[in-house]
Amino acid sequence: MTPYTDTVPTQLVWHQASGMLELGWADGREAHFTAPQLRSACKCSVCEKRRRDGNPLAAPVDTALTGINPVGETGVQLVFSDGHDRGIYPWPYLHQLALEA
Ligand SMILES: [Zn+2]
Repeated sequence: MTPYTDTVPTQLVWHQASGMLELGWADGREAHFTAPQLRSACKCSVCEKRRRDGNPLAAPVDTALTGINPVGETGVQLVFSDGHDRGIYPWPYLHQLALEA
């Protein structure tokens, strides 16, 4: 297996009551991400620019996940309650976030 396929989760559960996104990987790693955590970690050009400008977004605690759309086999696009839907979260990035969580 290539390092890339190692980062494709074997489990992805959207807990709609709590708003948590649960991911699990074949290497045993697992993570529970909150919507504000994922929103703050958005890597779209707008959010990256804010980061470069030294003004990264700190998502409010009441931010909710409102949609999850598959992006081919490479990751997911997440939609948030603040209307932000530009964020693509590639599997390697989520795997990395799980390391840092
Ligand atoms: Zn963004």
